[in-house]
This record gives sequence, C-alpha cells and structure tokens, in this order.
Amino acid sequence: MDSLETRERLALLGGLVERFGVDVVSSCSIDDETRARFHGSIRSIASRLDHAILLGIRLSAEVLDTIEGAPNWTYYHHYRTVNFALDQAALFAARECRRLGGRALPIPASQVMDWERLLGHLSHRELGERAGVGWRGRNNLLVHPVHGSQVRYATVLTDLALPSPGIELAAGADCGDCRACVDVCPAGAIAMDPLAFDLDRCTAQVRRFSRSEKLNVLICGICVRACRGGASAAREGIA
Ligand code: SF4
Ligand code: SF4
Repeated sequence: MDSLETRERLALLGGLVERFGVDVVSSCSIDDETRARFHGSIRSIASRLDHAILLGIRLSAEVLDTIEGAPNWTYYHHYRTVNFALDQAALFAARECRRLGGRALPIPASQVMDWERLLGHLSHRELGERAGVGWRGRNNLLVHPVHGSQVRYATVLTDLALPSPGIELAAGADCGDCRACVDVCPAGAIAMDPLAFDLDRCTAQVRRFSRSEKLNVLICGICVRACRGGASAAREGIA
C-alpha cells in the first residue's frame, strides 16, 4: 500500500484519466449488501474488493439534440464512442491501481449480462449514488447536479483505500418539481415517484426502437436528452 492519503489518491487517478475525456470522478466503499446485487460472474472476485471508482463522461448536448422522438444513428455512434472511451479510462485506472499496489477489476460501461431485464455487471447508478455523484432520478438514471442524466459511467472495483463518498452531495438534492422526463417518455414508464419507474415498459420500448429504427443496440436517449439536472441541485465543489 502506498503512503498517499485517500483523497490525494483519488485526485491522482482523476488527473490520469482526464486524457480520456473523463468529466466526473468519484469513489465509494462497497459492502456485502451492495455486492449481492452484482452479477454472479463477478461476485467472487468482488468479495475481495471493497471500493469502487466511478468514471463519467458527459454526452454531447449537440448529439442529444438530434434525438427527436426516437434514437438515431448519430446517437448510436456517439453512445458507442463514449462507452469505448470509458472502457479505456477504466482499463487505465485499473492499471494505475495495480501500480499503486492494489487489485482492480474494470467494469464495462455497457455490457448486458441479463438480457431479460437489460442489466449489466452492476448498477453504475447505484454506485454513483453511494459515491455522491448524484441521485436516482425519476427516469431510473443517475442525475448529476450539473449534467443531469447526460453522463455515462464505468466503474473500477479495487481494494485500494479511497474516500467514501468521494463527492459530497448536498443534503436533500433530488429532482424537486421537475417532470421533464415524465412528459417525454413514449412508453409512459416514468412516474413522479422514482421507485415507481416501470422497467418493463422501458425495456419494451427500447426493443421496439431497435426494430423500428433498425439499430442493432438497445438504446433510447429521449429521457436522457430531457434531463439537465434538478432544480434542487445546489452542491458545492462539483467537478
Ligand atoms: S429510455 Fe426511453 S422508454 Fe425508457 S424511460 Fe427513458 S424515455 Fe422512456
Ligand atoms: S428530467 Fe427532471 S425529473 Fe427527470 S430525472 Fe431528470 S431531474 Fe429528475
């Protein structure tokens, strides 16, 4: 274990991944309850990794503005490009964790492991909440106070000691009275209560888009375009 303080270590890692266009960096501890929700294929290795590093890249507002009622090839390409950059950043951060004497497992930005419910290895949103990056929005995505849901994330699991949470979110930060995503969702999947989000309606809609728009990926982007952060988002020191 190196002698750096945990916040200095997170700042070091954040500085190193800037070259990949990473806009948001934070960290959190993970416990058994959180691990139990990870995909079975990583649960064993994750039992020895007690921290997560969240890496986020903001999507292009101009690309999102091309989404009018349905996802398109411009968004598809951008989505894949950002995921690729995040995976590169996670790979690099994991290598740096190992150089610092730790173990590290990079988790893909977007790899479907459960095709029924369209779930990945773990929930970047859940870890983002723990890391103070944002809150669970009505659209079931992580809402960053400044960037809204217009950020994609990858995670690195590690046994290096890191700050938890890496970012201090203002108490009570949430969607407030905003209902921008509620009003635009074509599936009616979004309710005012974030816990009432209808995942089945959402997954059915993205499957319909995949067929109607002839996209060989399950994307939508409509509620992402709508979400620019909540009115109650005041927070100090956001990256
Ligand atoms: S991704 Fe599309 S279908 Fe799913 S909640 Fe958002 S707007 Fe609705
Ligand atoms: S668009 Fe508004 S209501 Fe929907 S998740 Fe974003 S901040 Fe919350």
